[in-house]
Amino acid sequence: MLPSTSIDESYRFLFEDADVRGETVVLKHVLDDLLASHAYGAGVRVLLGQFAVSAVMIANNLKFDGKVVLQGRSDGPLSLIMVECSSSGEVRGLARGDLDAPEGPLSEHLPQGILTLTIEPDVGKRYQGIIAVERDELADVLSDYFQQSEQLATKFWLSTRADSAAGLMLQQLPTQLVVEASSRLDQWQTLCALADTMTPHELIDVDTDRLLYQLFNQWQVTRFEPKTVKFACHCSRDRSLNAIRLLPKHEITELFEEQKTVTMDCEMCGSSYHFALNDVNQAEEHTLH
Ligand SMILES: [Zn+2]
Repeated sequence: MLPSTSIDESYRFLFEDADVRGETVVLKHVLDDLLASHAYGAGVRVLLGQFAVSAVMIANNLKFDGKVVLQGRSDGPLSLIMVECSSSGEVRGLARGDLDAPEGPLSEHLPQGILTLTIEPDVGKRYQGIIAVERDELADVLSDYFQQSEQLATKFWLSTRADSAAGLMLQQLPTQLVVEASSRLDQWQTLCALADTMTPHELIDVDTDRLLYQLFNQWQVTRFEPKTVKFACHCSRDRSLNAIRLLPKHEITELFEEQKTVTMDCEMCGSSYHFALNDVNQAEEHTLH
């Protein structure tokens, strides 16, 4: 059984005597909700789990209100896979393409693919970084991404199974704070080697505090208060109605000539919104006054 204390919570931690910080998360109910809206096969479920825990760990370090969008695109089996996580821990996502593709490395689902990481503050400029999917696994692609874009040594450990997904991330701090420059690399390699001793099963099943103790008991680790992660979609009837209203008038007329009721489905959460021509006209009247 999963330890109740660690499910659907993300944790930040810091090594007091090394220039290294970390994140860890276990998703279960969030993953259930994320996967519920489509009949995803085993391969896509695994990937969505990996994308979700990665997006959560990256978003957990945001210093402002906003969101992280982690997205993969390719001309291969999956045309799109994306998960977004807000700074308040709200997650949603989807995949398009061959949703029944069997389990396999990221590079098989997204051959010659592109991975995009977008940081969108609620206020201010958004930042987007892109990296080619040239490694088999998402964890390695992400490590390369941080090394190239931020010159920060970063390593991800991801573990997924049918009912849950978990991740651990270690990252060097940007500046030399605690240790001599000559020790930085040594400490980084030592901490990564310790994390490498963890099995995928331990990453999912062992309570966070216990896992950190098992791996790093020779080190002083400060673990911060966990943040609750939840599935949440911001679609609404009003937003869907606005999307119809943005169509040219003749297209709206044609749409409702073909069918009495137009249905808009949200790909992220599976919600369906139904509209009659009257709804569109009424909305227009409201905006006139
Ligand atoms: Zn939705």
